[in-house]
Amino acid sequence: MSNGTHLVIIGGGPAGNSAATWAARFGAQVTLVEREIVGGAAHLLDCIPSKAMIATGGAMSATKRFAGMGIEQHDVEIDVDSIAERISGIVGRIQSTTTELLQSQGVTILRGEARFVSDREVVVTSAEGEARIEGDAFLVATGSRPRIPTWCSPDGERILTTRDCYPPKVFPKSIVVVGSGVTGVEFVHMFSSFGSEVSLVVSRQQVLPGKDAEAAAALEDRFLARGVKLLKGARAQSIEHEGDEVVVRCDDGRVARGTHAVLAIGSDANVEGIGLDDAGVKLDERGYIGVDAYCRTNVPHIYAAGDVSGKLPLSSVASMQGRKIAEHVMGMLRVDHRVLDYDKAASAIFTQPEIADVGLAEAEAFSSGRKIRVTKVPFSSTPKALIHNDPHGFVKLISDPNTGVVLGGTIVGRHAGELISVVALAVTANLKVSDILESLLVHPSLAEALTEAAE
Ligand SMILES: Cc1cc2nc3c(=O)[nH]c(=O)nc-3n(C[C@H](O)[C@H](O)[C@H](O)COP(=O)(O)OP(=O)(O)OC[C@H]3O[C@@H](n4cnc5c(N)ncnc54)[C@H](O)[C@@H]3O)c2cc1C
Repeated sequence: MSNGTHLVIIGGGPAGNSAATWAARFGAQVTLVEREIVGGAAHLLDCIPSKAMIATGGAMSATKRFAGMGIEQHDVEIDVDSIAERISGIVGRIQSTTTELLQSQGVTILRGEARFVSDREVVVTSAEGEARIEGDAFLVATGSRPRIPTWCSPDGERILTTRDCYPPKVFPKSIVVVGSGVTGVEFVHMFSSFGSEVSLVVSRQQVLPGKDAEAAAALEDRFLARGVKLLKGARAQSIEHEGDEVVVRCDDGRVARGTHAVLAIGSDANVEGIGLDDAGVKLDERGYIGVDAYCRTNVPHIYAAGDVSGKLPLSSVASMQGRKIAEHVMGMLRVDHRVLDYDKAASAIFTQPEIADVGLAEAEAFSSGRKIRVTKVPFSSTPKALIHNDPHGFVKLISDPNTGVVLGGTIVGRHAGELISVVALAVTANLKVSDILESLLVHPSLAEALTEAAE
């Protein structure tokens, strides 16, 4: 049943579809407009396929770990077509379950391209023509696309954006990855797992700027052990075809060559062609739609969420913003309503070793002069890591030395992305290290490293 509020959403990614389902559940009339893929372009064409390919690459390299577990090693072969089919299957399934969920909540899904013509009306253009929709509240959740610099023209064949990499057509013999942030290192890991020779152009002196330095160093060590070439302190200036090769030239004169190159230098917000001027919505100085703590733009009944809002570019954050917007639109802010705290978002990097973190980072605390207690425990001290023949990595807990409240943590190693949930809960709920210590966890489990770190 609708309470009369009509929420119009542009974009059906995690931000849009979570706002749609929650608002419909709270009684709003909801119209969601999507031009390409219900479930989200960045979500279903970037996030999910990259993780599916990394999982296949991980399964291939697991054979090396199994060799130390009494299992004879067998050669494995890549079947590119099966991988492509698997990815399409996963994406298709998520797309249809998302559509079914939206429809089951009574959300009207319109296929087409939406643009504001005023702050109260959007026009949707599709093959069938144009439809005008008026609303009481609007959400712009149009996502982002891979950033393409002026000095490079990707051709989708040899010079790639991240979105050109899947479903895979071939696995490159050799590839130069430009950009050593989260996406760049995941691509290095993915291609090297599949046997490509990989070079990585790292603009600073260490991969993963802003992440825990010990975690970044552990990843670099693993890359070097796999034969990845690191070009540190180099900025790519041009990427061009030369015969059968792709040549990446850097500002310090160094050159990296491969059969392919992939750009992983971030993304740009989809803010063009959606009539933001006609609605009076302003961009911030970085080109994103500026939002307040409730994800409202400068026009109070127009919200923005997900990658377009310039906060953390994560699916999990986009979904949470969507839910918070639904609560705000529907006046559901209860006493226990919490404004989204982006500093408490957990995130993971799906490499080997896997890296995950949440909350305050050690370097951040030192640079702000904040006193912290840091405890670090290697996984090699847990029986489970030895049982699984993978003792790499560590757990690092950061807490307040006076109160014992957990402020953050970094985990490096197998299942880091799952294990960080415990620390994320502690950080969100202001739990103390003693709460982790007193938890009766499973034995043997990797999570025992967390209780050890809490000792
Ligand atoms: C390679 C890669 C890997 C990633 N891995 C992870 C990960 O492991 N974990 C994680 O949390 N995040 C990951 N991310 C980030 C994540 O994909 C994004 O943060 C998330 O998808 C953002 O959601 P969104 O709703 O803002 O945008 P999207 O998912 O892009 O959805 C926006 C939708 O809006 C539609 N749209 C745009 N303009 C219009 C219009 N005018 N009319 C109608 N529809 C329109 C688009 O078609 C699109 O479907 C990854 C990103 C990349 C690039």
